[in-house]
Amino acid sequence: MKRIALLGASGSIGTQTVDVILQHPDLFELVSFGVGSRVETARTLLKQFPGISLCSVMNEADALELSKEYPDKTILFGDEGLKTIAESDYDVLVNALVGFAGFAPTLAAIESDHDVALANKESLVCGGELITRALALHGRSLIPIDSEHSAIFQCLQGNRMRQVKRLIVTASGGSFRNRTREELASVTVEEALAHPNWSMGAKITIDSATMMNKGFEVTEAHWLFGVPYEKIDVLMHPESIVHSMVEFVDQSVMAQLGSPDMRLPIQYALSWPDRLPLNEPPLDLAKAGTLHFSNPDTERFPLLALAYEAGTKGGNLGAVMNAANEVANAAFRNHQIPFTMIEDIVIGAVHEAPFTPLKSVDDLLAANAWGDEYARGKIRKLS
Ligand code: NDP
Ligand code: MG
Repeated sequence: MKRIALLGASGSIGTQTVDVILQHPDLFELVSFGVGSRVETARTLLKQFPGISLCSVMNEADALELSKEYPDKTILFGDEGLKTIAESDYDVLVNALVGFAGFAPTLAAIESDHDVALANKESLVCGGELITRALALHGRSLIPIDSEHSAIFQCLQGNRMRQVKRLIVTASGGSFRNRTREELASVTVEEALAHPNWSMGAKITIDSATMMNKGFEVTEAHWLFGVPYEKIDVLMHPESIVHSMVEFVDQSVMAQLGSPDMRLPIQYALSWPDRLPLNEPPLDLAKAGTLHFSNPDTERFPLLALAYEAGTKGGNLGAVMNAANEVANAAFRNHQIPFTMIEDIVIGAVHEAPFTPLKSVDDLLAANAWGDEYARGKIRKLS
C-alpha cells in the first residue's frame, strides 16, 4: 500500500490524482491533503477517505470551521499547513499546487526524506538548483507528472543517460497556435482559456497560449534529467498524441504515445516502475489518422526563446521569470492587461533583473520578490 499526501487536491491535477487513487484502493491510500479555498473538496475527501489524518486549507477561518465538523482530524492552514503535510508521515507527495507556492513544500518533502511526484513545474523553474542539491543530499527521487516529462521518463526506462543525444519535448501550441502576432493583440481571456486538446487549470492554460509553459517545460526537463539546454528541443505537434521523445546516440528515437489524459502520467508516477490498468479509452491511432510535426517559431512565441536564455544563464533568472509571469498571467485573466503584454512584462523582467547566483532559499525569495514587484510596477503604471 502506497500512502499518498496530495497538495492541490481541489485542482485539475489534484482531482485526477484522486480519481487514480480511487481506481486502485488496494494499492494507493490518501493519508493527507491540502486545498486552497475550495473547502467543499476538503469535506468530500474527508468523507471519502476515512484514513485521512491531516488536511490543510488556505484560510484560518475555514480551518476552524472544518475542525468543528471533524474534531478527530488535524486541520491546518496557510503555507505552514502545506509544509507540515510535506514533512509528515507518508510514502510519496503528489505536488499539484500551482505557482511559486509549490516550491517550499517540494523542498520540505525532500529534506524530510520523501519522494515527490511533481506536477508543480514552477518548483523546478524557480529553484531547480536548490531542489537538485537537496535530492542528491537526501537520496530521494522526483518523479515527473507533467505529460512530456513522464513520456521522456518512460522512454528512458532501460536505457542509459550517457547514450542520450537529445530530448524532444512536443508542444501543442496552445489556444492561439493558428493566430498571427497581429491577431494576438486583441484576443480575449475566454478564447485563451479554450485549449484545443487539454482541460487544465486556468494559469497553465494561459501559459500554454503564451508558450511560457513550454519554456518552463524545457527548464523542467533540464533539471529532471540533467540534460544541458542545447540538447533539449521543442517540436510542435498539434495533436498532443506523441507526448515527447528521446533520441539516442545511434539515432534511434523512442516516443511515448497516448490520449491527452493526465491520469496516465499521474498513475505512472505513482505506480513506477510498475504499470497498472487504467480505466480510460485506449488510443485509436487509425482514428487520429495523421500526426503533424514542425519546428516552433520563436519569433511568434518569444517566451519560449526567453526560457532557454534564462535557463542557460541560470542564477536568479528562472525565479524572476516565473514571478513576473505569475503576476502578468493573473493580470491578463483579471482583464487588467492585454494578452501580448504578458510577454512584454516577462521579457522586461528577465532582461532588467540584476543577475545574482542562487545559493539559498533566501536568494530564491529575493528573486521571486524582485520579479513580482517588477511586474506589479508595470501594471500599476497602466492605471
Ligand atoms: P489548478 O489551478 O487547477 O489547481 C491548483 C491547486 O492548487 C488547487 O487545488 C488550489 O486550491 C491549490 N492552491 C493554489 N494556491 C494555493 C495556496 N497558496 N495554498 C493552498 N493551495 C493552493 O492547477 P492545475 O491542477 O492545472 O496545475 C497544478 C500544477 O500542475 C501546475 O504547476 C501546472 O503547471 C501543473 N500541470 C498541470 C497540468 C494539467 O493538466 N492541469 C498538466 C501538467 C502540469 P483551490 O482551488 O482550492 O484554491
Ligand atoms: Mg506539459
